Amino acid sequence: MSLRTSGEYVERLKRMKPNVYLGGNRISREDPILASPINTLKFTFDVAADPQFQDLVVTTSHLTGEKISRFTGVNRSVDDLLKKQEMTRALCHRVGGCIQRCMATDTLNAMGVVSSRIDEVKGTDYHQRFLSFLEYYQKDDLVGSAAQSDAKGDRSQRPHQQADPDLYLRVVERGKDGIVVRGAKNHITMGPYVDEHLVIPTRAMTGEEGDWAVSFAIPADADGVKIISRVTSPRPRIKLVAPYNRYGVAESVVVFDDVFVPWERVFMCGEWEFAGQMALTFAGFHRHSYCGCKPGLTDIVMGATALVAEYNGVETAPHIRDEVTELMIIAELVYASGIAASVKAQPTPSGIWEPAFLYSNTGRYLAGINVYHEYDVLTAVAGGLPSTLPPEEDWLSPETGPYLEKYIMRKPDIPAEKLHRLFRFISDFSCSAAGGWAQYAGVHGGGSPVMEKIGIRSQYDLESKKEVVRYLAGIEG
Ligand SMILES: Cc1cc2nc3c(=O)[nH]c(=O)nc-3n(C[C@H](O)[C@H](O)[C@H](O)COP(=O)(O)OP(=O)(O)OC[C@H]3O[C@@H](n4cnc5c(N)ncnc54)[C@H](O)[C@@H]3O)c2cc1C
Repeated sequence: MSLRTSGEYVERLKRMKPNVYLGGNRISREDPILASPINTLKFTFDVAADPQFQDLVVTTSHLTGEKISRFTGVNRSVDDLLKKQEMTRALCHRVGGCIQRCMATDTLNAMGVVSSRIDEVKGTDYHQRFLSFLEYYQKDDLVGSAAQSDAKGDRSQRPHQQADPDLYLRVVERGKDGIVVRGAKNHITMGPYVDEHLVIPTRAMTGEEGDWAVSFAIPADADGVKIISRVTSPRPRIKLVAPYNRYGVAESVVVFDDVFVPWERVFMCGEWEFAGQMALTFAGFHRHSYCGCKPGLTDIVMGATALVAEYNGVETAPHIRDEVTELMIIAELVYASGIAASVKAQPTPSGIWEPAFLYSNTGRYLAGINVYHEYDVLTAVAGGLPSTLPPEEDWLSPETGPYLEKYIMRKPDIPAEKLHRLFRFISDFSCSAAGGWAQYAGVHGGGSPVMEKIGIRSQYDLESKKEVVRYLAGIEG
């Protein structure tokens, strides 16, 4: 069995060289500020031992035949893709937000698919190197980042046209034993608490851009790697502890300051024709994951809207029922896109099944453009209290607490504590730094909506639709 406990995960983090920076200081991975984001990752280990979730979270390695976490696996069937999607939705319900660890799962799948395609055309041995790395990754039940988004500089210019060539991560030296890379990956989720950074290109490259067409895996504390981080934690609680408030997230700028990467960990180096394929293959897998997590988050918005309407005594008001029904439609249409992407998945020469790109993109797009609408519905139905609720201390104070308990009451059969808990949850979830983070993440994570539109348009068979109309209109040719 290749499954770590959450304690073993944390122990390994403690042994890493300190290269995490936050708030102007270099901090240790044991710093309390990282506790809530690390809790989210710990949950992904704990849940593998939970009988309720085991069937979703634990799978079998096709390399070793051992039990592994689905987060370290590659998708080898339609069923694997369906289970990944279901797992993502279910686990987001438990942490109240992004489960994070699927980032690496999707990167590994993309690396697996594309390394094998490069080998086919170029006669290289990237795929074998990838499989050896994957075996190590699975055996140690590791956590990886998806280090894709480059700094990108002037968005109107290509990588080789930037004033500073390092604005896209690139190879600056090729040697007998490996390569040296320089650049930075931005927005990287989990940066301070991963074991490995999994690096892939952001975009398609041209013939002049071989140095920027690079993919590799590197230990997160390797020499020259610097992780400049920020944390989004839910507000702390004093007495009204709740599961939601345990879990946080961190993003980071991961700087590669002339980092040496041994050849056995390099999965693309110079094959510019495949950079776009790697970027888009990852996007396809990751947008498929979004078809699981985003419905999971819509479920939370929907549940909070319905519950607050019930507590307020307005759950049967026609406009509220209508808004909640709209949330149901969004959640299930996004999920259905993911199911379609799974069912229409195709095997690739690597043996990895790739979700149908069209449907993972339509699902992710629909989710992205509805994020603010979903929060709008919740805000409208919740009323103003999530933004005006007095601090928890005032509820605990013998002098002010009784007033607050008296004046929060709605229906007599719903006690003040339940109302207080719900409004405080809605406040923490939607009217807070964590809420703002989730809104931006919901729009841009995995690619901004315009990127999905470009993806959909680039592969869509529009000609066949014109042909339908030519036929119906009796137009020849
Ligand atoms: C919370 C969060 C977590 C994330 N985690 C990760 C992660 O773990 N790993 C990772 O690799 N990335 C991660 N991302 C990055 C995410 O994929 C990017 O935010 C997204 O791809 C958009 O890139 P950008 O933020 O650099 O915005 P920009 O590239 O600046 O794009 C902003 C807008 O500018 C316009 N635009 C940009 N370029 C062009 C162009 N060439 N032509 C026309 N219009 C253009 C588009 O309208 C676009 O929506 C994360 C993002 C968020 C918000």
